[in-house]
Amino acid sequence: MRIIFALVVLAFAYIKYTISTTKETNPYAGEVQRVALTPEQEVQMGLQAVNQMAAQHGGLHPDQVAQDFVDKVGAKLVTHTNSILEPGAKPIGYPFEFHVLRDEEAVNAFALPGGLVFITAALLKKFQSEDQLAGVLGHEVGHVLAKHSNQQMAKGGLFAGVGQAVAVLVGGDGGMGGHTTGSMANKVLSSKFARDDETESDTIGAELMKQAGYDARQLIEVMKILQESSGGGGGPDFLSTHPFRRAGSIT
Ligand SMILES: [Zn+2]
Repeated sequence: MRIIFALVVLAFAYIKYTISTTKETNPYAGEVQRVALTPEQEVQMGLQAVNQMAAQHGGLHPDQVAQDFVDKVGAKLVTHTNSILEPGAKPIGYPFEFHVLRDEEAVNAFALPGGLVFITAALLKKFQSEDQLAGVLGHEVGHVLAKHSNQQMAKGGLFAGVGQAVAVLVGGDGGMGGHTTGSMANKVLSSKFARDDETESDTIGAELMKQAGYDARQLIEVMKILQESSGGGGGPDFLSTHPFRRAGSIT
């Protein structure tokens, strides 16, 4: 009886997932993916979150020279997004923006859906070359182009359903134990996809670097910088979410 109920929960989650999301081939990553939002909605969502995200890192950095430099490198990369389009695919034309955050402590970079890319002053001051900055910005541009946030949002509903089904199977009648098991299943599934996303962003970032004339081998140096920075502890930073797993194999 419990198995039947779990299967019913799973079936409903899957039906909801297929109805509320769109299946498409990503024009840049070539991956067939389910997404929850249109590119216009992604841009809207990014703009809604921008102030809050910036505030978490002390707001935007007042150093206009640093900001101009980051703008220049970011622009050089995104000029080449059309050259990595899948054959026959139409460009999306995300309105990319690059922002330096005032935070001098947290070594971090991240992207919001729709094209907003952020880098902290703490990470920026560690770079020894423009190529290294291009490596991090290219990786973040990769997340945007491959629509990773959008994809995670679409999967979120499905994962919750799978979690509930597992909870029904293992945890009896929805007690605390079952709830925890469900969340754990959810976490395991999410993190597996997240690792694939990092690899995909590394690949897109490295390709944009090459097209823009940057040395993609500098990603190895970026990885060293990130590893050294994470040694001191101090909470989640770029390395924990951006392991650059393939950096060692980029040539
Ligand atoms: Zn990443």
